[in-house]
Amino acid sequence: MAEKTLFYELSYDQLEMWLADQGEPAYRAGQICEWAYQRGASSFDEMTNLSKSVREVLAANFTIGPAEPIETNADKEAEKMLLPMPGGAEVECVRMGMGSYASACLSTQVGCSMRCAFCATGMGGCERNLTVGEIVLQLVTMRARTGDIRNVVYMGMGEAFHNYQAVVDSINRITDKREMGLSPGRITVSTAGVVPAIHRYAKEGPHTELTVSLNASDQATRDRLMPGVSRWDLGDLLSACAAFTESRSGQPVTFAYVLLEGINDTFEDAERLSKLLRPQPHHLNLIPYNKVPGKDFKSPNPFRVDTFYKACCKQGLNTSVRHSKGRRIAAACGQLRRRVQEAD
Ligand code: SF4
Repeated sequence: MAEKTLFYELSYDQLEMWLADQGEPAYRAGQICEWAYQRGASSFDEMTNLSKSVREVLAANFTIGPAEPIETNADKEAEKMLLPMPGGAEVECVRMGMGSYASACLSTQVGCSMRCAFCATGMGGCERNLTVGEIVLQLVTMRARTGDIRNVVYMGMGEAFHNYQAVVDSINRITDKREMGLSPGRITVSTAGVVPAIHRYAKEGPHTELTVSLNASDQATRDRLMPGVSRWDLGDLLSACAAFTESRSGQPVTFAYVLLEGINDTFEDAERLSKLLRPQPHHLNLIPYNKVPGKDFKSPNPFRVDTFYKACCKQGLNTSVRHSKGRRIAAACGQLRRRVQEAD
């Protein structure tokens, strides 16, 4: 028997075509997508405004419904889930915040090949890319468990631009008004800084926000912390970000900067950051490091974080501090998966 396809792999147009092959009218696609994406149906049987024969042929060809988490870890601010993927392996996703202000943090790969020195995900390498449907499934699952989520960040496991097409297709899927209908402006794609992909995204990508992990104010420190992007120098990275800003009518790139005590949190770092970022629209987001077992890095203490923040502001940088939600639930990417793997 042929293997079933994950329903969320299908775009609306592909679903219409599939229905036409079954001799069904196009409007059925709207009925099915309402059940799948607005009502979070966990089986085709629930779709009671479809005939029994349509439900049966759907169930014979597709699987649908939220994934059952292997492990969850939650506090008042965040819930992290480890989800089994239909194609094998498991990935993490996180709901951060509550109510309609909640954000879903999605993974794009099983693991990551970037080997960032401070990251738990990078420790195991990359097993494979996720499919479009597997990326969408994470959001479907979080919405089914925790209610409506209107903000999405592609900041979980993996380098989003190493799975470029699936990421773009999944954004098109979740922003399609006939499916989930989220606003592109509430979606953020994050990259470690794959320069050619930033240029490509600037030219042809959906109009989402873009975050680039900077994490250093000089080339040598960045190369050491982020060996996966060391082939591109900071000048080329910033030019690519400027191209993105230009292509989006002045929308600034957010530069994420994980604060590591004694490594990138000095007054000189703030001065160098100012020289790098001030020539273009920017937003600098400081993120005190979330400790990863087995890594020697430490977050600066709150006083030092505040001092660095003030130094950046004084240098004319548009700066904020992100106080990591979910510190208590091992929310930095890759930590829950690693913990479960180590316990096995
Ligand atoms: S920080 Fe992001 S890009 Fe770097 S290894 Fe971890 S998942 Fe990959």
